Amino acid sequence: MHDRLDAVYGKGEVEAMARMVMEEILCCSPVDLVLRASHEVPAFFPEKLEQIIARLERQEPIQHILGVAQFHGHRFKVTCDTLVPRPETEQLVDIIVDEQGDRQDLRVMDVGTGTGCIAISLARALRFAQVTAIDISAEALAVAQENAKLLKTRIKWLQADILSMPLWPATSLDIVVSNPPYVCFGEQAQMEHNVLDYEPHIALFVPDNDPLLFYRHIASQAAQALVSGGRLYLEVNRRFAHQVADLLQSHGLVDTRVMHDSFGNDRFVTATHP
Ligand code: GLN
Repeated sequence: MHDRLDAVYGKGEVEAMARMVMEEILCCSPVDLVLRASHEVPAFFPEKLEQIIARLERQEPIQHILGVAQFHGHRFKVTCDTLVPRPETEQLVDIIVDEQGDRQDLRVMDVGTGTGCIAISLARALRFAQVTAIDISAEALAVAQENAKLLKTRIKWLQADILSMPLWPATSLDIVVSNPPYVCFGEQAQMEHNVLDYEPHIALFVPDNDPLLFYRHIASQAAQALVSGGRLYLEVNRRFAHQVADLLQSHGLVDTRVMHDSFGNDRFVTATHP
């Protein structure tokens, strides 16, 4: 793989992709990879590998090619109808679990669930949580439902457009979480081909003239649906983190905090219902 892909992805990334291919296609665990290094591979493997390398040369995401992505210690199915779960979003789940991990029976709403990675990871990490997840895309919800089944979690799924859906029941939620679309169309020039050409634009983009579109709707829903002391957790475009915090305050939420991701970017905003 190195001779054909290093120039596109760099050596380290190709190394990681090779491990993912071996794990998925040959069902090798990381330990197997070391122990079986000198074993013969099955007859189908060279042809399969050639197909994978050709798709990687076209910069298709490895997770789409293999149909799976790791997230928060779980294996999620992904398709071209869902964003590939990102490490930043794992951090968002960690922030919630760190804060709320010793509570139980929490009522959680995940807005724009995609693969279901946030909703399902929270359902697994929080004791007896009642998790509802919304997405506009029926195709994404079908993937999320399959993931919930594979990971043995019970989630309530709702197909709805957050921009036009009726108000959620008042004081009915302890946690609202969302990683909504937040990339401006004007930012396309800085994006990688594997994102731009293969991931669903409906899950990525907001209009340049209204980058807070989804946050406004989520904030007004959360401001009336959260219980007193309930928490809102958002992943955001680093360019607008402080504007999102101001927006949440203007909806009456308090204790707003902007937090960094592991790359040092302003990536998360949290707030509390007073
Ligand atoms: N973090 C994603 C990216 O870099 C965007 C996710 C989103 O729009 N919610 O492409």
